[in-house]
Amino acid sequence: MFHLIDGTRGQRLPVKPANGEGCNGCSYCCAEEPCATAVEYIGAGTEGPCPALEFEDGRAWCGLVRHASRYLDLPNDWADQILGEMFATALGAGRGCDAEL
Ligand code: SF4
Ligand code: SF4
Repeated sequence: MFHLIDGTRGQRLPVKPANGEGCNGCSYCCAEEPCATAVEYIGAGTEGPCPALEFEDGRAWCGLVRHASRYLDLPNDWADQILGEMFATALGAGRGCDAEL
């Protein structure tokens, strides 16, 4: 475990696993640099942390997958589930860690 200093409010997060292992929500990739999806859909800049990073249960989560309406500035959350599924597919969620250290 290590202590991040960017937006985690002091939470301890898991250590980044090796490439190809399951994502454990360490947040390294999204804290380092917003992904192309974040740049395209929520106007994230090129420097991390991504504004859609969420922290809960001792790990990081993608806010676009969990609460898309919050970041897309939608008037309600009725489309969160379908949008979340679309973002999860676009981001390759579930395919393991693809971040290089
Ligand atoms: S993809 Fe890798 S670096 Fe990114 S949060 Fe998951 S484990 Fe961490
Ligand atoms: S949009 Fe999601 S996957 Fe992309 S950088 Fe932000 S939190 Fe990470």
